[in-house]
Amino acid sequence: MRMYFPEIYPDELVYSWFGRFAVHSGYINSQLLQFLYSKRSDTPIKEFIGNLNPEARECIAKIYPLRELVLKHTMYPQYARFVPLNQRQDALYKLCYENCDMHHLFAVLPRCENERYLKYCPECAREDRKKYAETYWHRKHQIRNIGICPKHKCKLLDSSVPAKSMSLYSFVTAEEVIPDIEESISVESPLQIAFAEYTEQVFDSPVDFVKDIPISATLYHAMKDTKYMKSTGSSRYMTKFVDDMTHFYEQIELNEIATISRIQKTLLTGRGYDFSIACQIAFFLGMKPEALTDPQLSEEQIKQEAESHYIKGSTTPEWEEYDAKMSVAIESVAADIYSGAADNLGKPEKVTEKLICKILGIKEHRLENMPKSRAVLDKYSESYPESWARKLVWAYEWLANNEEDVFYWKHLRKLTGVKKARFDEVIPYLKKYADEDEMKSIMAIVKGI
Ligand SMILES: [Zn+2]
Repeated sequence: MRMYFPEIYPDELVYSWFGRFAVHSGYINSQLLQFLYSKRSDTPIKEFIGNLNPEARECIAKIYPLRELVLKHTMYPQYARFVPLNQRQDALYKLCYENCDMHHLFAVLPRCENERYLKYCPECAREDRKKYAETYWHRKHQIRNIGICPKHKCKLLDSSVPAKSMSLYSFVTAEEVIPDIEESISVESPLQIAFAEYTEQVFDSPVDFVKDIPISATLYHAMKDTKYMKSTGSSRYMTKFVDDMTHFYEQIELNEIATISRIQKTLLTGRGYDFSIACQIAFFLGMKPEALTDPQLSEEQIKQEAESHYIKGSTTPEWEEYDAKMSVAIESVAADIYSGAADNLGKPEKVTEKLICKILGIKEHRLENMPKSRAVLDKYSESYPESWARKLVWAYEWLANNEEDVFYWKHLRKLTGVKKARFDEVIPYLKKYADEDEMKSIMAIVKGI
């Protein structure tokens, strides 16, 4: 087979280019796979090129230098930008010339619910079709957490094509799945637009193949002279920083706001290199994109940051103290809710994180970094059917003690809020909380006997 590749469009994913190549040349998926890759078991990843066989690699390299292809048409600038220099260089070489799995090259964070499909911008699709008579998968629309098209300031939409590679690999072109006419949803929030533009600028900046400045050092020096760091530089006020940053990004519809542990990993351990987390921290700190992508730090400054790393794992003493204090408070509040001591009538309730956090004024996102508090909550966790069973047994006993007359399901329901339709789910738990007589009586009441 001869290979006649179509022209690759600006910012087009290689995956998209290969898909169009198949359509233009009339190949079916299995032919294309055989053609490009070594084994059928190779599952090329949509964000990169995949393990090309030597002939295909040679042929493609003649059309387009592989290095340029990786830099301009894969998600390399996202995943590699903040990893250490030697890893950055090594990954680029391997992506061009070796058979490798991207998961061995970079730490790739799992995708959240909102990032499971390849995304597109209806306006870009319209423009592409006008200009090229077809549309294609754009790289920038796939940047994690970008949310909106940086060019048209409208929401990116999910296609039906999973962003992850499936074991049954298929090339689906954007032209096949993006509707011909679709309304775009414009985004008005200046903050959200600014964040998307910022992300785009960072993504577009040349990847540095000369300097080796850890991202943790860049961010450390950006945090200096802010209220989040002691003037001596010896410690940072992480609780306040994370709270303020979370609050800041809650104003934007981000797909996933950086969590405490990821922020700490990036800032405090020097082992976190995620693109979106770094962008979120830098944008929040008001750093210019160049300050993030082309930092100017002296050896002395880099050393200073390295020495500031906390030796004690990824948690700070401040957090441990807060966790210890709150876990005691959670235990006492949770015990009262669970047993019914917190209720006027003595009705037991299900202990939920939301409720506990509300009562104690704990921000829910903080729990992730509070292992002691988590352990207490886990101890009280139960399914809804189990909590209904406990409540029904309590209600039965309460009615038996307080009502003179016989009572019916409606009385139980009024006290507990449990729906009869869900009763089947409750039965397995009933015998855990009721004795045999109670169990029989409750069953009889439910059946209306
Ligand atoms: Zn667009």
